[in-house]
Amino acid sequence: MTIADLHRHAHEGRPAFLALLEELVRIETPTGDRDGAGRLVAHLSRVLEADGWSVSTVAREAVGDVLVARLAAPSGTSTLLLAHYDTVHPLGTLARHPWRVDGDRAAGPGALDMKAGVAAAVLAVRVLRAAGAEPAGPLTLLVTSDEETGSHHSRALIEEEALRHDRVLVLEPSRDDGALKLGRKGVADFHLGFEGRAAHAGLAPETGASALIELAHAALEIASLADTSLGTTVSPTVARAGHATNVIPDAGRLSVDVRLPTMAEAERVEAAIRGYAPRDAGVRVHVEGGVNRPPMEATLGNRALLARAEEVATAWGWSVQSGIVGGGSDGNFTSALGIATLDGLGALGGGAHTAGEHVLVSATLDRVALVAGLVGQP
Ligand SMILES: [Zn+2]
Repeated sequence: MTIADLHRHAHEGRPAFLALLEELVRIETPTGDRDGAGRLVAHLSRVLEADGWSVSTVAREAVGDVLVARLAAPSGTSTLLLAHYDTVHPLGTLARHPWRVDGDRAAGPGALDMKAGVAAAVLAVRVLRAAGAEPAGPLTLLVTSDEETGSHHSRALIEEEALRHDRVLVLEPSRDDGALKLGRKGVADFHLGFEGRAAHAGLAPETGASALIELAHAALEIASLADTSLGTTVSPTVARAGHATNVIPDAGRLSVDVRLPTMAEAERVEAAIRGYAPRDAGVRVHVEGGVNRPPMEATLGNRALLARAEEVATAWGWSVQSGIVGGGSDGNFTSALGIATLDGLGALGGGAHTAGEHVLVSATLDRVALVAGLVGQP
């Protein structure tokens, strides 16, 4: 197996890749739509079984079922390929923005994020076999159904599978410039409730305790926890208080979006928000929420996996870029468990989550060869 072989077979697989991508895009799968999810899982299961994968599904109630496909091997380096089939696009998007191929661009809702990543996983194994090789050890493909809404129904399963494997390759799209994702910021949400005391704003304002004024102090103080030199952002996003213009407000609520480069920053910001001390002793503050996705730090294991990708790529004369990005993925969970994780190995393209979402097919097939090379090597 040489990277030149893999590259050739990946590009020979172009018609099959486009056909599978089209089939996946034509089944609309907004998160939580069980009907589309059922059809997609049934179709993908047939495709994988025809390729020799053993496929099972894990039932979910509020979202689509999760697909687990395995290629067994008695020993060797085990790999988890991580993907999701849900998209952010509501039903009906396909009618307005139908599947289309225009030169090297393939477009349609969810094509880039990340139905092309699912198709890339299928093709990568075919390419490896066409080059006369097999995966370096047991291989699992996990395709989840609620990544776009925070993976609340699949996180435990993702973590359980990650712990059974030596490494995780996440088939999310690469950065728009093609860079792999060595790290991702963590994501936290906090919701602060303010309980004050109502009073007539004209007759006796001094007997009240304003939830709104306390909320305003809290918003400013919490926003100042940001540390731009480290990449920590702390953004108050939604605020509500009061119900009448002549009443001192007795209730308020503030939501804060936090993005975190490291666990140390997560702990610092969380402690400060939870420890918020109201200036007005008459207002009680309670804090809900916390870290949804821990940061995917550029750990030694993640760097080693990137080095392996660079080895495969340079053997073919490519250079591989990598970076740390703001948005989270399911790779955040696996990396936080200490399992070597490399993300952004799926499609190249642009416009994720928008009507202009598209895949650059040739560059994505290059990436398929890289994934095949990674899966085939210990
Ligand atoms: Zn995605």
